[in-house]
Amino acid sequence: MAAFRTVVRTRWIRTFPVALAPRRLASSFKAADLSVERNPKSAAKPDPSTLVFGKQFSDHMLTVEWNADGGWEAPQIKPFQNLSLHPASSALHYSIELFEGMKAFRGVDNHVRLFRPMLNMERMHRSAKRSCLPTFDKVELLECIKKLVELEQEWVPYSEDASLYIRPTFIGTEPSLGVTRAGRALLFVIVGPVGPYFATGSFNPVSLLADPSFVRAWKGGVGAYKMGGNYGPTIAVQSEAVQRGCQQVLWLYGDTEEITEVGTMNLFIYWTDENGEKELVTPPLDGIILPGVTRQSLLDLARNWNEFKVTERKMGMKELLSALDAGRILEVFGAGTACVVCPVGSLLYKGQTYNIPTMQNGPDLAKRFYKELTDIQYGRKASEWAPVVA
Ligand SMILES: *Cc1c(COP(=O)(O)O)cnc(C)c1O
Repeated sequence: MAAFRTVVRTRWIRTFPVALAPRRLASSFKAADLSVERNPKSAAKPDPSTLVFGKQFSDHMLTVEWNADGGWEAPQIKPFQNLSLHPASSALHYSIELFEGMKAFRGVDNHVRLFRPMLNMERMHRSAKRSCLPTFDKVELLECIKKLVELEQEWVPYSEDASLYIRPTFIGTEPSLGVTRAGRALLFVIVGPVGPYFATGSFNPVSLLADPSFVRAWKGGVGAYKMGGNYGPTIAVQSEAVQRGCQQVLWLYGDTEEITEVGTMNLFIYWTDENGEKELVTPPLDGIILPGVTRQSLLDLARNWNEFKVTERKMGMKELLSALDAGRILEVFGAGTACVVCPVGSLLYKGQTYNIPTMQNGPDLAKRFYKELTDIQYGRKASEWAPVVA
């Protein structure tokens, strides 16, 4: 009798909990599960000197689907193709969408390199959390992206001033109009060759519209995340800037008209401070600033050089204009993946144009940053920041 009971209990313990336990969903897709369907046709590679940003794409794309019941599916590389979406997909109605922007470079040694790609993966992960989209293993996503770049390596321009732009994207595909967390989602990555932002060797300074009536991001909002919803509404402001004879927007914020970002770039000011010391200033990551990979890299380089003060702090228009008036502004420039650094030549503020002497000052610092980063990206200087992928 005792023996019989033991047997019964053992069986019960073994089978019952297993049968009732909910199926455990994998917390991420895995690069090891990646399947590759090759495109039988390969499009002609464009001449790097004719490239227009974001218009050309390669032969393949990476897709990974997710749904709340089954979790992540296996990642796929397949021929570049249109998506088929339910018309109620939440990305289309409520902007449940986020993206990343990164590049692959063909080095002087013919190897293909990425630039600090884990910073993009970390930022994408933060954007996914803030969008109530499922999270993933950042290392696994990077592995999948590396596989895609490796497969598309002939699409990485044979040029030291062009590159392969990489656009990871994540959208809610929940087929319902409820304003709720998406139960279905699609992560995809497309890539395409892009040309130089500047004609070789020459920096062209941009003119900026600084109008405090326009706001890009605000405290408590989502300006620190690369979510599609942050960018659509800026296009009308950008075209207003062009109508007023400027090239880009200087985004101001709050009563003190804090200077925050330039277009889709982080902002840097190199000046002589009140005490006569050279200082590089950029706004702090307080929620309204997008934490740029280029921004982080310029801060890391400058702190490592240790030749001038490097400060993350707010600066209002008043402070900037009075320093400009006192001749203390040396260089103002934007920083981002597209251009590395972009000098600012003038500001249109409350009907008045203010010249910024960035170009008259070299721009020594902007050029030094540009050279340092592109030397790493194109393999002219060895660095842990630029892992080789092919
Ligand atoms: C992407 C972006 C930047 C630059 O980020 P990088 O990682 O350096 O390319 C800066 N500001 C905004 C608003 C951006 O969207």
